[in-house]
Amino acid sequence: MRYKQSMPRNLTPEKLRALADRVNYYRDLGIHDLYRRPADESLEVIEETVGAPSSPSLAEGGVVEKTTGAPFKPSVGLSGEVSAPDPTAALRLIREDLGDCTRCRLHQQGRKQIVFGVGNPEADLMFVGEGPGADEDEQGEPFVGRAGQLLNKMIEAMGLRRDQVYIANVVKCRPPGNRTPERDECDTCSPFLMRQIDVIKPRAIVALGAVAAKTLLGLNDTMANMRGQWFDFRGTRLRVTYHPAYLLRDPRQKGEAWKDLQEVMKYLGLEVPKK
Ligand code: URA
Repeated sequence: MRYKQSMPRNLTPEKLRALADRVNYYRDLGIHDLYRRPADESLEVIEETVGAPSSPSLAEGGVVEKTTGAPFKPSVGLSGEVSAPDPTAALRLIREDLGDCTRCRLHQQGRKQIVFGVGNPEADLMFVGEGPGADEDEQGEPFVGRAGQLLNKMIEAMGLRRDQVYIANVVKCRPPGNRTPERDECDTCSPFLMRQIDVIKPRAIVALGAVAAKTLLGLNDTMANMRGQWFDFRGTRLRVTYHPAYLLRDPRQKGEAWKDLQEVMKYLGLEVPKK
């Protein structure tokens, strides 16, 4: 007889997905050994060997009172079962996990609200910026200020609408005075972004500026080196371009950003204007 962990019968597909998302989140944090809390529905005993003597627990409905203390390691089967999650529900769960986040100092530095992300939960294309500014902090939505107006134009130039893509930031709280988010703030917040990416599974990600590019790719490189190439990233492809706020300061670089976006358009099969 073999004992195998399995999901309690009352777990709905939605709860299973939520569980898998949570496990993925802990993996992103580097936590791999998870233990299932002892509970009366915690372990099912599954009889697998034909002809093996039946156990009392099976006779009692296959549920034992306590876990053996064995680590709960999510199996391939678990991931397989959740291969087609409802992304809206999964994103909602990530938002719930964030809660009224106090994980880094930004929660004490004047943020009005957490700016989670916006757009199509099944988008083919995702844009990742640095962090909310004053307008975003006020409205609770990324890229709604001046840089956001320019990002909207960039999206429209690609033949898309803002509601067709997904937009998020590396940090979800406004850094005071719009300073660049610090490394530890990015490290604390980015697992939530990674989870968003894993749920949305975009075909392409555009990292807007150096903070987004470095955080996502785990590189400490220059924009010059990171632009102009595709990166494989979490099962999707990532391209780096200039942050719209930088383009507002130096509009001469808009042509370069457009070149980056055209590569993304080609990859996504979008029609690239001749001129
Ligand atoms: N800049 C960013 O990086 N993100 C926003 O949401 C707004 C401005």
